[in-house]
Amino acid sequence: MDANSLATIVDNRRSLSSSRRAIWWVRRDLRINNNRALEAASLGRRVVIPVFVLDPRFEGPESEKRTHFLNSGLESLNSDLGKLGSRLFVKSGDPSLILPELSRALNAPIFAEEDFTPYARRRDRDVGLSADLNLVGGLTVFHPEEILTDQGGPYKVYSRYRNKWQTLPRQAAIDLDPESVNFAATDIMESDDLAKKVISPQGGEHQAMKVLNRFISGSGALLSYGKDRSRVDGNTTSGLSPYINFGMVSSELLVEKASDLLSDQGLSGSESTSVRTWLSELIWREFYQSAIYHFPDSIEKSLRPEFEHIDWSESVDDLELWQQGSTGYPIVDAAMRQLSSEGWIHNRCRMIVASFLVKDLLIDWRQGALWFMKKLIDGDTAANIGGWQWTAGTGLDAAPYFRVFNPVLQGKKFDPNGEYVRKWVPELRGVADRYIHVPWESPSVTSNSSSIDGYPFPVVDHRFARQRALDAFGVARTKYSDTLAKPKHVAN
Ligand SMILES: Cc1cc2nc3c(=O)[nH]c(=O)nc-3n(C[C@H](O)[C@H](O)[C@H](O)COP(=O)(O)OP(=O)(O)OC[C@H]3O[C@@H](n4cnc5c(N)ncnc54)[C@H](O)[C@@H]3O)c2cc1C
Repeated sequence: MDANSLATIVDNRRSLSSSRRAIWWVRRDLRINNNRALEAASLGRRVVIPVFVLDPRFEGPESEKRTHFLNSGLESLNSDLGKLGSRLFVKSGDPSLILPELSRALNAPIFAEEDFTPYARRRDRDVGLSADLNLVGGLTVFHPEEILTDQGGPYKVYSRYRNKWQTLPRQAAIDLDPESVNFAATDIMESDDLAKKVISPQGGEHQAMKVLNRFISGSGALLSYGKDRSRVDGNTTSGLSPYINFGMVSSELLVEKASDLLSDQGLSGSESTSVRTWLSELIWREFYQSAIYHFPDSIEKSLRPEFEHIDWSESVDDLELWQQGSTGYPIVDAAMRQLSSEGWIHNRCRMIVASFLVKDLLIDWRQGALWFMKKLIDGDTAANIGGWQWTAGTGLDAAPYFRVFNPVLQGKKFDPNGEYVRKWVPELRGVADRYIHVPWESPSVTSNSSSIDGYPFPVVDHRFARQRALDAFGVARTKYSDTLAKPKHVAN
């Protein structure tokens, strides 16, 4: 464990002796239940002051849907605190100025759930320089420093990380009765207003529990997750990612639910496999959180140095066609349109469109990651960078660079009747199932056609594009090994 992490480990004794109040700095833990930061703040019957800082860094049109979702989560938390005689105190501005000031004025140490992105770590270091900031676990089940190889380094291969993760003893999810917490009265200090906006989907802890319970109930998608999870034409996954990312449900609770189900003797073999598969997706999330902690540069740089200098295409037109969902590949376009409209797409769709951008259009994965962060309600730096680098073949335990998704075959396999495509690409509603993923082959298309009922022809031929990508990645690899092989010039 490095000095930085050691300094951030919660030290309740120190804080307890110095104050009868504590600030619960709410960040990505928008929940009252199963919350370690809240529990730590409330120890010793301290008066807990829940504070959220609206950091201008996270506002703006780029992430409008995410901001709306966050706002509705804040509303929901405020309303829950209201039932307990308190409120969420909102302050707008730079957290590294606001928090130390509040801490001094209230004579209260600060408790917060630790976050691992480079920005969060810088911000917390700044706050910690001038205030008693105590960081507490909860974003993941295990801290990135807890899952290390025998040599003491981070895991770079997911399956090994998962094996270690599964052998470590877990703490039970915190079960603190919110009624027992001594929350501050509403007049303890002023609060800025919460931004009220109509949003969809609805955020908040209650909604998160509804989504979770629907998913894990007997008729929910969990029990067939093992075989159906890659289908994009139905509700085959939990849809929990936006709630998980804002901590409206705790990852510890989700893992506990999955483990409880696994110890349930009533599950069939395939049902147990389904639950196990879902658990391993939750562990993927932890793997990526750990990766961003150990490899903060991966936000900007390919984790495989040999792919850092690929001769990327600079075509703005191609990038825009991809963003707008007008590439001429139905499954890609359906997904990109859903992304813009709803701010969420299925994991399979994320892989298909990411592969298309990077391999078929040969556009830098960073452009795609940026667009996703603008659009996704569940936008999460760690999972997003991990997913993009995985698909591009540039990341930790990534798909090999020569694995290129074929958008036609992916469509046929995971949207076999074209239901998903028809929903998002209305131009193709009249196209027969047979041609729904290859509309350019439809008999109604003649050599004179300029479009297929207003739908474009493919922007690029997949076979050609695949080879072009393999060549570009290959050249980058060769150049990189040449630089390594070159004898170093030794100065006299
Ligand atoms: C290019 C790309 C970008 C991505 N960007 C994000 C992002 O910004 N935010 C985000 O939360 N996820 C991201 N993912 C991961 C994944 O696509 C979503 O977490 C998943 O689709 C969310 O749907 P769900 O909640 O129904 O998942 P479920 O299948 O129900 O899985 C449950 C939970 O496990 C986690 N999980 C599942 N799959 C993955 C995965 N491959 N990597 C990491 N965690 C996973 C999520 O927290 C998810 O909510 C990305 C994947 C790719 C390929």
